[in-house]
Amino acid sequence: MVSINEVGRGQIDQVGGKGANLGELIKSGIPVPPGFVVTTSSFKQFIEDNDIKDQIEQIILQTDVDDSLSLTESSSKIKKIILSSKVPSEIERKIIENYQKLITKRAGEVIDSNTASASSSAAGTAAAAEEDLLPLVAIRSSATAEDLPNASFAGQQSSFLNVKNELELMESIRKCWASLYEPRAIFYRFKNKISKVSIAVIVQKMIESDKSGIMFTVDPTTGENTILIEATWGLGESIVGGEISPDSYHVSKQKIKEKAIIDNAITDIKIAQKTKIIAFDTTSKTTITYDSPPDKINAQVLTKEQILKLASYGLMIEKYYDDQPQDIEFAIDKSENIFFVQSRPITTKADNKNKIDIIDKNQLIKGIGASPGTAVGKVKIIKTKDSIKNIEKGDIIVTAMTSPDLVPSMNKSSAIITDLGGRTCHAAIVSREMGIPAIVGAQNATIILQDNQVITVDAFNGIVYDGVVDLSSDTSISEYQKPSGVESGSGSSDSIKTKIKINLAFVKNIEEIEPKVEGVGLLRLEHMIAQYGTHPAKLMRDNRLDDYIQMLMDGIRPIAKIFNPKPVWVRTLDARTDEFRNLVGGEEEPHESNPMLGWHGIRRSLDEPALLKAELNAIKKLHDEGFTNLYVMLPFVISVEEVQKSKEICREISSTLENKIGIMVETPAAILIIEELCKEGISFVSFGTNDLTQLILGIDRNNERLSRLSSVFHPAVLKSMKMVIEVCNRLGVETSICGESGSQSEMAQILVRYGIKSISCNRDAIDLIRTTVFEEEQRMMKS
Ligand code: PEP
Ligand code: MG
Repeated sequence: MVSINEVGRGQIDQVGGKGANLGELIKSGIPVPPGFVVTTSSFKQFIEDNDIKDQIEQIILQTDVDDSLSLTESSSKIKKIILSSKVPSEIERKIIENYQKLITKRAGEVIDSNTASASSSAAGTAAAAEEDLLPLVAIRSSATAEDLPNASFAGQQSSFLNVKNELELMESIRKCWASLYEPRAIFYRFKNKISKVSIAVIVQKMIESDKSGIMFTVDPTTGENTILIEATWGLGESIVGGEISPDSYHVSKQKIKEKAIIDNAITDIKIAQKTKIIAFDTTSKTTITYDSPPDKINAQVLTKEQILKLASYGLMIEKYYDDQPQDIEFAIDKSENIFFVQSRPITTKADNKNKIDIIDKNQLIKGIGASPGTAVGKVKIIKTKDSIKNIEKGDIIVTAMTSPDLVPSMNKSSAIITDLGGRTCHAAIVSREMGIPAIVGAQNATIILQDNQVITVDAFNGIVYDGVVDLSSDTSISEYQKPSGVESGSGSSDSIKTKIKINLAFVKNIEEIEPKVEGVGLLRLEHMIAQYGTHPAKLMRDNRLDDYIQMLMDGIRPIAKIFNPKPVWVRTLDARTDEFRNLVGGEEEPHESNPMLGWHGIRRSLDEPALLKAELNAIKKLHDEGFTNLYVMLPFVISVEEVQKSKEICREISSTLENKIGIMVETPAAILIIEELCKEGISFVSFGTNDLTQLILGIDRNNERLSRLSSVFHPAVLKSMKMVIEVCNRLGVETSICGESGSQSEMAQILVRYGIKSISCNRDAIDLIRTTVFEEEQRMMKS
């Protein structure tokens, strides 16, 4: 055990990167909350006394770090071992002794003795009211390979705040030790070839933050050499977690250095709407989130003096670390004392490749950049079906949520902004396919923006600017949208085993793409229907099914022809009841409270078999024209009966159709009964990860508030797919993926490892996925 004001760079082995950094800060006169470090020797002794070293090493040796399941399993085994082992009594006694000393000490006592030069900054500390000093501590892990210039482990180990008694203290320390074996930490160490690592634990007095924030001594988004401070009321977690938009202040480094002109050193102040505060509640002794009182919502968090004082400290800290830019966390208590709780080098600079700079001025709205690109144009707000006809070429469509019936006009627009939606909503999918820049989940775009207002859209960063803004960038839109030619594909990746296919909804530019893929893994009908303009159910009610068949044949034929003999998987109709409301006859669609879980996909097709038959007839007639490369894919399947009934209908139409059926695997039900579904006689399955993720995680894919929680890489989603691939491979059924995640190289890598047979991606991801698959297959051959 050692006090943090006694440690420094020389003791990284004992106190870890974070501990050593804090010690260095204190030495340079920076106010840091008092505390002590449970050194790596204690951890070592804990491991030795419990005799668990070999056991842990054995588990690590058997881990396949590229297999997320294996990684997660190993991690939980090791953590369990650590959490159930006993802390040697001598170590426990010393920890508690230090803790008792710490919580009875006033925060200022330690700081004042160490901050002779900067004590004016901590002035007032000694006068701090007794109630400001909480008998609470923060526990943070400090790994020996952490916070080093080229290996930031940021966020990879744990922190526990507001720890209030000995029991919690010991438990948190054990949890910190266990966090050395979090899956991402194991993965990171493996990939960075870090073999020797240990962990220290920092125990520090909690500061009752009245304000808190983060300071970057170089602007991390622009890479500019200016200080950026972000601050909010209460605890700083809300900034890190992205839940609350903080105030931001830019300070000129140069002017701080030339102390004479310090008055105008603050170059920019942006006050955010801080509607929520996260704070420590002294009554319940927990962290709570509450609505900001009205006078705090739009009030500036930091005073001018505090901004300048923080910036001066920022420079001191940076200088101390040999001018290396720092990412610094600070807290300010009720008595206006500033404390620094962490400083670490900024390891990533703004990567301008494929990105463009964010400009501070004229920002109107922030949402999720869902289809990359930039555009300048006039706003057209679409609230009703009638306003769709006003869209002119180059306009920027602003709407609550796009639906397929907007598609024809989307073609004319230069960008799309929606209030709702996440990355996998249909607006995002269609925009990506059309190559139109799109920002989704912009919350109140339809209210903030005005018709005919000229705006600039940066769909890389999800920002809308007022007026014409020059977004200088290496990546022009045309470059991004250009369909990549055959020659740009990696030549060496021609010989891959896993087939690469494409998701399609339109005929646009497909001649150029056909040579690069081995088929169409998803052909969506919804967009053809939207372009046609009349709801299929209306065509059915009006006895115009022949028109429906004709329209489908005209839409599918050019694709079947260009790809022939490569397989084209045509998905039967899968439109939610709220998606086609603006089409002719769409007003008669039922109103459902949960359309995502409603009457769509195969369940609706079997309720309205006339429509399904029309779709199957269109395919059969195209078979008769020679396009036998067309297959049928059933969406949103949940039961064997649905497959049986669909097959019966196929059989009535043509015997060849019956053998050309596959299903989307996009419901937990389909996962769990995959064996029975395969045995019903299907030719292929394709993962619809957009729906699968929302259904497994219980997160509405159109709910932008939850998009931060939604991950297709959640172990439950991955485990489901792994299981399905194993069953299908055993039963000889082709597996594929057509959800959006098939366009992500990380997903392609995982699925190739699991043994998937084909991957269907978006047109702009073909080269990336082909190269990823090639590299992964090579790795698998070698290992
Ligand atoms: C999916 O759910 O992943 C899918 C491809 O279907 P859609 O996005 O059309 O629901
Ligand atoms: Mg789906």
